[in-house]
Amino acid sequence: MRSKQFRLSAWATAALACALSAAEPVSAAPPALSAQAYMAAHGGTLAPAGTLEIDGRRMTCGRYPTVLDPHLNDFGEAYLGLIVLNPRLFAGLATPVKLWIYSHECGHESVGRDESKADCAAVRRGRREGWLTEKGLAQVCAFMQPAHADSRHFSGPQRCAFMRQCFQQSAGSTHR
Ligand SMILES: [Zn+2]
Repeated sequence: MRSKQFRLSAWATAALACALSAAEPVSAAPPALSAQAYMAAHGGTLAPAGTLEIDGRRMTCGRYPTVLDPHLNDFGEAYLGLIVLNPRLFAGLATPVKLWIYSHECGHESVGRDESKADCAAVRRGRREGWLTEKGLAQVCAFMQPAHADSRHFSGPQRCAFMRQCFQQSAGSTHR
């Protein structure tokens, strides 16, 4: 389990590795891929937009569908217009961590490849929708803790510190 958690830092880089051709320019957006194209290449089960439930909570990301791929080598990844989750790796996670991962991937649809912004977008969404409490954020931080820094990601503790800021800054917005 611990070794799998290290793969957290590979989010989006995995998408880049398997979806980008050599000619693809570096851009702020994740690579575009349709659910059909993904499933033709990798398999998986389609959850059309608006149908995904995570531990009984309906989760949406605009018009974008989700593919559940038990062979994905990460917890989740984002393509432009598509989110992919690994239901096998999700099985052992606490609910707020699952919702946060989905929301992080969904965040990439609007913030592009910036990992810190996707983290913050997920935290703000959790706060706004009421599924992320202090306790849940602690669970997310525990989950992130082993993640190493790489060229695209800060370390788990660094990401956690930034998310705590986002959490504090969005305080009170749930009561408006
Ligand atoms: Zn990411």
